[in-house]
Amino acid sequence: MNTSKNTSKLSSIKNLLSASDFNQEVTVKGWVRFFRSNRFIIINDGSTIHNIQAVIDLDKTNTEQTKGISVGACVAVNGKLVQSTGAGQTVEILVDTFEVLGEADPEKYPLQPKKHSLEFLREIAHLRPRTNTFSAILRLRHSMTFAIHQFFNERGFFNVHTPIITGSDCEGAGEMFRVTTLDPKNPPLKEDGSVDFKQDFFGKETNLTVSGQLNGELAAMALGKIYTFGPTFRAENSNTSRHLAEFWMIEPEVAFNEIKENMDLAESFMKYLIQYALDNNRDDLEFLKQRLLDEEKDKPKEQRSEMDLIQKLEFVLHNDFERITYTDAVQILKDSKPNKNGKFQFPVGEWGFDMQSEHEKYLVEKHFKKPVIVTGYPAAIKAFYMKQNDDGKTVAAMDVLVPGIGEIIGGSQREDNLEKLLNAIKVFNIPEKDIWWYLDTRRFGSAPHSGFGLGFERLMLFITGMGNIRDVIPFPRAPKTADF
Ligand code: ATP
Ligand code: MN
Repeated sequence: MNTSKNTSKLSSIKNLLSASDFNQEVTVKGWVRFFRSNRFIIINDGSTIHNIQAVIDLDKTNTEQTKGISVGACVAVNGKLVQSTGAGQTVEILVDTFEVLGEADPEKYPLQPKKHSLEFLREIAHLRPRTNTFSAILRLRHSMTFAIHQFFNERGFFNVHTPIITGSDCEGAGEMFRVTTLDPKNPPLKEDGSVDFKQDFFGKETNLTVSGQLNGELAAMALGKIYTFGPTFRAENSNTSRHLAEFWMIEPEVAFNEIKENMDLAESFMKYLIQYALDNNRDDLEFLKQRLLDEEKDKPKEQRSEMDLIQKLEFVLHNDFERITYTDAVQILKDSKPNKNGKFQFPVGEWGFDMQSEHEKYLVEKHFKKPVIVTGYPAAIKAFYMKQNDDGKTVAAMDVLVPGIGEIIGGSQREDNLEKLLNAIKVFNIPEKDIWWYLDTRRFGSAPHSGFGLGFERLMLFITGMGNIRDVIPFPRAPKTADF
């Protein structure tokens, strides 16, 4: 019985679970989730959150033959697909032949069929894709990636590949990781003792990119509507549940769009992605929803969420995002209860202060109870390239804030006036010689244009309801964390 002479084609469990032609001969390969009574093998092959049960005929099999079957082992089974009589399953396989492709020593295999903490699973990130939670997240990541490309493709955007190694350090979005081939123990030095990067691989100092935007703008000034979808790197030494050192970012950039159209694009983009997940990943979302409900069971009633995951996604889908100015946001925060009671960790400052995540969350979760787009930020706390408003102190920036996360999108209309941009780079201490190529788009055929960046893992936090950004990327990179 251990010799599998499989003639039938390999089927995915996803397809078999919705099959209606019973008694066909099928082959399934996957990993054992449970093995009960030496007879029932519960198999998952990753195609869906659901498992299939394969039933061994005990008259034809002895215990010796089933020895290698245990949780985590990889098996191939061949047999007849039949309607199941068992509760909670529609079909099962009556095993004809089976083969253990790879055993998993039960004494050593760390994933047993019980609840493991997310912290523990992070330590075995090489195996966690085999859990329901992580396989659901990975399927959703794929789905969202696909939907992002589809959204832009349907609207005539072109996908542009911007460089990962950058020679400009004026992207201004955070600390960068240096890229070098110089000997760290013995780098060539200049007369003043500093490292001579002229002798480095690129003949200058280079870093990993923190954003594809500046290059994206160059392409938008030719192709009209573009987007990038690439890895970005920030050496932020902040161990938060919302920051990674390596994350993926989607950055559309649109010629002729002003800030209002930029907001419209961001809102319809978010809604498209939510709709796509609801339409195409229902099973995974249902699983993640239940996971959250189970997690909340132990909490006191008033700490539980008013809406479950799917209700929350539907709510965001069917309601307009609130749009307010930074100035109004600050006033709301100043007048808020937690501010008056000193409940914020960071007190609300005077006009000009940079909102913290707790303030953003207050606005969306407590005050408006829906996503909020904040515009008109003080120029001093935003990037040099943002369009200066006529009031002389604010810029046409926009941050999209969502419940549970805070900022999910940051964007702006860009300054298209050369004189104003030259002024701004002076204020931000950016040497003109480092950025002459960017300024050229304002010299030659400048046009109003706008864009934004959506952090892919922040989107995944939102869609999955997970609480820590390290759990929505297969192999997280964060301070002191680069295993696997
Ligand atoms: P934050 O204030 O939350 O640190 P930011 O203002 O530095 O974010 P932007 O430079 O505006 O972020 O980047 C655009 C988007 O990229 C953010 O809205 C967020 O979704 C995402 N993002 C930024 N930094 C990180 C990070 N370290 N890890 C994961 N996503 C990030
Ligand atoms: Mn931002």
